[in-house]
Amino acid sequence: MGNALAEMDVSLLRKYPDPGASALAGALAERYNVGENQVFVGVGSDDVIAMSFLTFFNSKKPVLFPDVTYSFYPVWAGLFGIPYETPALDEDFSIKTGDYKKENGGVIFPNPNAPTGLYMPLDQVEEIIGANRDVVVIVDEAYIDFAGPSAMELIKDYDNLLVVQTFSKSRSMAGLRIGFAVGNPALIKALNDVKYSYNSYTMNLPSIVMGVEAVKDEAYFRGTTEKIVATRERAKTRLRELGFHFPDSMANFIFASHRTVPAWEIFQALKKEQIYVRYFNAPRLDNSLRISIGTDEEMDVLFGFLEGFLRGKITTGFVNREMRTGDEQ
Ligand SMILES: *Cc1c(COP(=O)(O)O)cnc(C)c1O
Repeated sequence: MGNALAEMDVSLLRKYPDPGASALAGALAERYNVGENQVFVGVGSDDVIAMSFLTFFNSKKPVLFPDVTYSFYPVWAGLFGIPYETPALDEDFSIKTGDYKKENGGVIFPNPNAPTGLYMPLDQVEEIIGANRDVVVIVDEAYIDFAGPSAMELIKDYDNLLVVQTFSKSRSMAGLRIGFAVGNPALIKALNDVKYSYNSYTMNLPSIVMGVEAVKDEAYFRGTTEKIVATRERAKTRLRELGFHFPDSMANFIFASHRTVPAWEIFQALKKEQIYVRYFNAPRLDNSLRISIGTDEEMDVLFGFLEGFLRGKITTGFVNREMRTGDEQ
């Protein structure tokens, strides 16, 4: 990728880039076995999803997405004045397909979901898409490359399905801002019509050039995602040994609670050590930590610290009292 950037004809930066980023759309079409007219490219999947809200969610009926999910969905709905409802996840954090079978103005959910990491099998994804043939169903696959089969294989059967992916997670290219949607040509045309009425030249030339190069390097991509998955599975074992429990994440993070020590306390202790995990101060989420999978070395630093810290907590006998205090808050 570095070579592609070094070899890029810098004089081309004088000109506007290709508004359709067709070199990248073409490379993605080939990689995912669809037509180039089935691919929409945007500046990160946030751009693609925001554009999709604007394009497809125009009903007076509410758009549906889970109560625990990617935090930007309610933000965009609010910004664009789109009514929405948030069906609650199950006790075990899974999406209940039955909640998505009522009248609505569209559906969106991530698969795997965030911040739980739970992957919904494709037959259940299909159940939701099939129950909503007259609205657009967006499957946000930001973490799919760490998980299982993509809903892309359903596109040939469902013209109401839009699958969105990103280069920010599994391709480790968040700084380039590349996201894309794949769907029926009519959906892609609608997205482009809205985009060209709004801001045409969004993706810059270096991003297009390096995006194409990244798509070509399948071996590197597979190697790095496999490494992260292996580290994630090792992390699950270590976390269980340390007394954590969690939904069985298929993403590049684990959403873990400790059996006795409150998440907030662990979060504070980790922060002091400059080990950063995510804490969500929200109902149902506030006793868990979202731990991103780093390198094996980084994970060992985390486990090494947790081992000492948790042993200290348990032997000093503070655990039960503090747990009780935590529960009352
Ligand atoms: C990270 C993420 C996005 C946005 O990613 P971009 O960097 O904008 O491509 C969208 N949805 C989910 C669920 C994410 O985790």
